[in-house]
Amino acid sequence: MKIAASEGPALLAALVGGDLPDADGRFGPFGGRFAPETLMPALSRLEGAAREFFADGGACEALDRERRQWIGRPTPLTRAHHLEEAWGAQVWLKREDLAHTGAHKINNALGQAHLALKLGARRVVAETGAGQHGVAAAAACARVGLPCSVYMGVLDMERQAPNVQRMHQLGAEVVAVDKGDRTLRAATDEAFRTWVADPEGVYYLLGSAVGPHPYPWLVRELQRVIGDEARSQFAEQAGGLPDAIFACVGGGSNAIGLFHAFLGDEEVRIYGVEAGGKSLDPGENAASLSAGRPGVLHGSYSMLLYDDDGQVLETSSISAGLDYPGVGPEHALLQALGRVSYVTADDSEALESLAECCKLEGILPALEPAHAFFAARRWSAENPGKRILIGLSGRGDKDMPTLTAVGRVS
Ligand SMILES: *Cc1c(COP(=O)(O)O)cnc(C)c1O
Repeated sequence: MKIAASEGPALLAALVGGDLPDADGRFGPFGGRFAPETLMPALSRLEGAAREFFADGGACEALDRERRQWIGRPTPLTRAHHLEEAWGAQVWLKREDLAHTGAHKINNALGQAHLALKLGARRVVAETGAGQHGVAAAAACARVGLPCSVYMGVLDMERQAPNVQRMHQLGAEVVAVDKGDRTLRAATDEAFRTWVADPEGVYYLLGSAVGPHPYPWLVRELQRVIGDEARSQFAEQAGGLPDAIFACVGGGSNAIGLFHAFLGDEEVRIYGVEAGGKSLDPGENAASLSAGRPGVLHGSYSMLLYDDDGQVLETSSISAGLDYPGVGPEHALLQALGRVSYVTADDSEALESLAECCKLEGILPALEPAHAFFAARRWSAENPGKRILIGLSGRGDKDMPTLTAVGRVS
């Protein structure tokens, strides 16, 4: 979707200035609140509580202390000297892999757990596909002292058995969903249903910058710490601003968290990298922005992969965290405005970049950010000598079974 040239600059200025989403939860034409009537009051209450939370100096200070003492923030900005030699660029990595539980997801989970306390919720529910968000939610709920139930499809529970064990160990209840597609979609429906049944007692802890308003905005506000830190670390350690920044996009939370601080810096090129999977043919990727069309999924109008009959397409990606047919509405707007370019890296390219980062930097990245590494290398071959910042969203220990299965580990 394209936005009229006359409207673009005003929308971008509103986004940078904090005036989007608007009162209806819209990022330009995208976003909104497509949810059952029964949930509207709960969504409004959540939005009000979140706005109060961010305006409350004491609450923000308490969260900030937990970010430092429990998550381990600020995460470092690491210069990657050997990648630089190989790529002919200056390369810096924002190390969310060093955050507690091994990825950026904890920033969101901890913030929303604090919000759940503020709302007086008695328990937290969350949905999870690959299990990473479930683990982050379980850890954050344990930390703030709230019971946590994680809904998970039975097929995903089989595929992600180690994460199910981690959630149990962290004290969460894992609710097996043996309905529908028996994966993330069915688990999301069940978690939603639990919330609808008791919107005051239950807090629904959503895992990415997707869903009905206020979630895309709320998750962005909790993840923007990545870019706020990186922007000042880059100024201090490298001087000035990067020429280009890269992050992988599944639902879009780590990417929007890194990008947001740089949206107003015209000279900084910004790239979101989606999962190209096996190919860009329907059903063989998870590239909602690169290969999708506008539509409604999980409460929000955004870019989406669906067929001519309106059926949401199967997705395919070697990285479970990117394997989602939709994407957050703020990314859809940034694409329509031309402010961020969305590109893809496929399964084998991600595997290649994962191996390169291990060998040259002694860092095992998750398969998700390995997509961003590949796109950054490709870009630096065309734009030599530039300064590049990459969002390293998580560590790859969780991907060892996948690497073994595809024969990348002996
Ligand atoms: C879940 C996950 C992602 C994808 O989620 P976003 O909301 O798009 O950030 C990316 N990287 C890692 C390491 C993840 O665990």
